[in-house]
Amino acid sequence: MNKLYDIIPNPKITCKYIDEYGKQKRLSKPDYRVLMSNPDIANNITGISNDDSNNMNSVVLKYRELAKKYRMRLHYDEPEDLNLDRNNIGKTQIRKDLAYNRVKNVVRQELSDLGYSEYEIADILISYLYGSNNKNKDLLWICYGNILYENLKKNKKSYIREVQCIDCGKWFEVRLIDTKVCRCQECQKEYRRKCDRERKRMSKFHSALI
Ligand SMILES: [Zn+2]
Repeated sequence: MNKLYDIIPNPKITCKYIDEYGKQKRLSKPDYRVLMSNPDIANNITGISNDDSNNMNSVVLKYRELAKKYRMRLHYDEPEDLNLDRNNIGKTQIRKDLAYNRVKNVVRQELSDLGYSEYEIADILISYLYGSNNKNKDLLWICYGNILYENLKKNKKSYIREVQCIDCGKWFEVRLIDTKVCRCQECQKEYRRKCDRERKRMSKFHSALI
């Protein structure tokens, strides 16, 4: 088991980025609603946003039960019927995928039996888990990761617009709120260099006149 820790990379994730003016900025806290197909689901279905287990939504209740049940299996157990070399990274991955797939099929089936569509189930769980800052999100991503990713791609489109660079003609993506952006990053840098040079030239010219 300890060997797994050596194998799995655990890079430090930096939440910073360089903006179009070359300045380092911190990423804002991501809005979990971009993962949802209907961000208002908590208004339409009851029992999602409270922690009182007597009034909890059936999907939330079932998820909590299943997450508890499978936590051990997902993190520590491996299928015993595969007599594979423990030191082999590829085979360890196969083992893990098999375990994940079994859990995924069981959980998706059990939650679907409650009468909601898979999109509704994913929305209910995101709303509950991210809304309450609940840490146990592994099972959600294992079971509904494809739906979350699909929603993210769809929602991202409405935040982003495409712009054609006025200097080089390349198309690139900017956020809707960045209404003034008209050059790609490279051309913007070049443009600023040119402006700086021009400004220096002009100030020299002015001081020569005085
Ligand atoms: Zn350009």
